[in-house]
Amino acid sequence: MTEIEKRQDRSPVPSAFDYAPAPESRDVVALEDRYGLFIGGEWVEPKSGEYQPTISPATEEPLAEVAYGGPEDVGLAVESASEAFENGWSDIAPSERAKYLYRIARILQERSREFAVLESLDGGKPIRESRDVDLPLSAAHFFYYAGWADKLEYAFPNRKPKPLGVAGQIIPWNFPLLMLSWKIAPALAAGNTVVLKPAESTPLTALLFCDVVRQAELPPGVVNIVTGDGRAGAELVKDSRVDKVAFTGSTEVGKEIQRAVAGTGKKLTLELGGKAANIIFDDAPLDQAVEGIINGIYFNQGHVCCAGSRLLVQESIYEQVIAKLKRRMGTLRVGDPLDKNTDIGAINSKQQLEKIKELVAAGEEEGAEIFQPPCRLPEKGWWFAPTVFTNVAQSYRIAQEEIFGPVLSVLTFRTPDEAVEKANNTPYGLSAGVWTEKGSRILSMSQRLRAGVIWANTYNRFDPASPFGGYKESGFGREGGRHGLEPYLRFE
Ligand code: NAP
Ligand code: MG
Repeated sequence: MTEIEKRQDRSPVPSAFDYAPAPESRDVVALEDRYGLFIGGEWVEPKSGEYQPTISPATEEPLAEVAYGGPEDVGLAVESASEAFENGWSDIAPSERAKYLYRIARILQERSREFAVLESLDGGKPIRESRDVDLPLSAAHFFYYAGWADKLEYAFPNRKPKPLGVAGQIIPWNFPLLMLSWKIAPALAAGNTVVLKPAESTPLTALLFCDVVRQAELPPGVVNIVTGDGRAGAELVKDSRVDKVAFTGSTEVGKEIQRAVAGTGKKLTLELGGKAANIIFDDAPLDQAVEGIINGIYFNQGHVCCAGSRLLVQESIYEQVIAKLKRRMGTLRVGDPLDKNTDIGAINSKQQLEKIKELVAAGEEEGAEIFQPPCRLPEKGWWFAPTVFTNVAQSYRIAQEEIFGPVLSVLTFRTPDEAVEKANNTPYGLSAGVWTEKGSRILSMSQRLRAGVIWANTYNRFDPASPFGGYKESGFGREGGRHGLEPYLRFE
């Protein structure tokens, strides 16, 4: 440890800043009382007759009623997508398809404040994140795939790429609009039509997206949105006119879907859970690494499939890293998602909060040591303080299971071999982080870590040009980049 670092360690803890409230205005969002389903370019009442409220997790206030599609509704949406595919969308000039995608991207940019506020209202994520991450990345995805729409022959030379038909897409609640963009942009660029089912607790930005689809004058039926719960998702997977299923969500439901499509000839991609290792070597720039640890686990309340939820610290720097980490955790502001100073917003649902609490209780029971910085949580809504567990054994549930909340488990290692062994010791394989000054070590670690995405000296960075996806129980198939087009194409 250098002299300078020692002195920094003794500097006062900057935890006592008081910030004046800086709320983003809700006025930019105009909510309907009730939303139907978006089928064939029109709003329709659900044949199921069922509606349920969607709730703001920060206040428990109902925001709007949303239709719950039943089997008949899913069938109508698939029929509409199928007709749109046959009657034009698959035949129009690829450069025309590109124009629609560019239009959608530009409208998302123009309306980004409205979308960001709505995303934070419905899902509880801090406005700073929906404004600076979810929205710019969603627009970037449409821009990126717009560029490929008329270059498929170059993307796959001599393979004669052709669209598949109807894509049935099912997404989770942690990045609602971003996951929609990851699904819809490559599907349309490749010439397919779409039926998408958003998650039950966060349907509102997908419904606002229908407005964008109309504004962009996309032909009716090319994009259909059916809200509802898991039953609607299961119906979509089952429908024989669906040619391709794309799913992002839990490993458990992913396995169910894989069983349902087995033997049907449908194409399938699964983006499932993770339990990523964020590995800090003793030559890493420690202050940056601590920022990377914080961003890795507390970004989006830890509701991130690729979250760096297992911290692996080299033994020689363990105490220093933990001290810096705890001090930094004390500066995180938990509260109103619409406040521009908020770092950690609300937990997405009561059910998710209970799952986090159960796993945290298991961690304490198994003997890990818990730390939470003092912080006042709002009385209404669903909240969980940023949490770190030390003294964690590899066998503990908090080291094995995905918590999907702001909870970090810390383990140590002595050698690179031990780091690799511990990092790979989970059923998952979605992502990992490596912090070291040595380029050669980054390369050798990346080759040995069984994970689809590996960040070096950074964490949770995304780019539409970069493929994303898992190994093992984290799923298969890639989204993003040229790789992300392939699951939506057949080759003659
Ligand atoms: P989930 O329960 O698997 O739900 C995901 C989606 O599937 C939701 O729209 C859900 O509908 C629907 N669904 C539920 N049961 C279904 C069934 N039997 N057939 C078809 N669809 C069904 O997961 P979640 O709790 O919403 O999301 C959290 C999980 O997603 C985490 O494990 C996380 O790691 C994973 N995730 C992975 C990625 C990735 O890219 N790898 C990204 C984000 C999240 P309802 O919401 O209406 O129940
Ligand atoms: Mg909600």
